[in-house]
Amino acid sequence: MTHFAFHLDATDTETAARAGRWETPHGVVDTPAFMPVGTLATVKGLLPEQLKATGAQMVLSNTYHLALRPGSDIVKEMGGLHKFMDWEGPILTDSGGFQVFSLAGLRKLTDEKAVFRSHIDGSLLELSPEKAVKIQEDLGADCIMCLDECPPANDVPEKIKAAVDRTTLWAKRCRDAQVRDDQALFGIVQGGISEEMRTRSAEGLVPLGFPGYAVGGLSVGEAPVDMYRTLDFTVPHLPVEKPRYLMGVGRPEDILEAVYRGIDLFDCVLPTRNGRNAMAFTSDGPVRLRNAVHQRDERPLDPECDCTACTRYSRAYLRHLFIAKEMLGGILLSLHNIAFYQKLVRDLRNAVNSGTVAQFRANQLARWQAQS
Ligand SMILES: [Zn+2]
Repeated sequence: MTHFAFHLDATDTETAARAGRWETPHGVVDTPAFMPVGTLATVKGLLPEQLKATGAQMVLSNTYHLALRPGSDIVKEMGGLHKFMDWEGPILTDSGGFQVFSLAGLRKLTDEKAVFRSHIDGSLLELSPEKAVKIQEDLGADCIMCLDECPPANDVPEKIKAAVDRTTLWAKRCRDAQVRDDQALFGIVQGGISEEMRTRSAEGLVPLGFPGYAVGGLSVGEAPVDMYRTLDFTVPHLPVEKPRYLMGVGRPEDILEAVYRGIDLFDCVLPTRNGRNAMAFTSDGPVRLRNAVHQRDERPLDPECDCTACTRYSRAYLRHLFIAKEMLGGILLSLHNIAFYQKLVRDLRNAVNSGTVAQFRANQLARWQAQS
């Protein structure tokens, strides 16, 4: 694992927040970092250079979706994911497990494997820990994930415990199945919102010596306060010297709260999904561009943002694009929202480095809440 190194530049003295540099085979990621989601090897509507201009250093792609379409064998034949999607920077792929449990028709789950039906054509497919690693090795991302079982947040304790133990068992098998040495394989801590189960999960995974750890199974319907509390008792079990990734989270305030609690890496579909639906995140809180109030609004979307949408267009024009169902609307708002998330993590890095995280968090939350 010589291709990777994680350096902590600063750790906040009042909070658990930290700022670091993560070296990967395809470049450095400054942490805290936000990864835009390119489900099908594309961050919808955006060219790699536009993505890069927002400050994004690393993107995420989904193993389940790519394994179904076009197939990991085709991506491999085409030179791997970086070349295929023309993204030169670091890439992370998830294991496919989350979609098997949430999107596909799960048919049978055993310690050996998950058997499920494709959501595209209904065909019967299998995913085992070994297969999840093989697919991710074919795709060729810099950071790959162990196959985990992600039960619903409100599942009964026995089911949560079984999922934790299966996740640990599968993590060992993933580690043993890994052939390539230029991909960082992360273990995923599960356990719902139970301190006992999260501790059990971390204690099972940390001795396996993964180069980084993810916290999975959050932002799946639990209250934000439960997510933050879960991070409070989970993060201290993770090694200080390794990157920590909170999967699929979240809203700007969730990122703020999670960085505060010592998380380094994030991904979420919100900036792009909301962008396509005319909802923008701004320095003063969310803006819904379909609202009639913006019909003659000459102001930029966010005067503190230097993205193309904010520096070249008025709110009135952006609203018009959505009302007229023009595709540029979704493109510009996706671009802006990603730029907004990148500025947020950049500001957080600066706040850690200057020892002002608690103050930054208080000011930011007050500002967002004042508007909503
Ligand atoms: Zn902008």
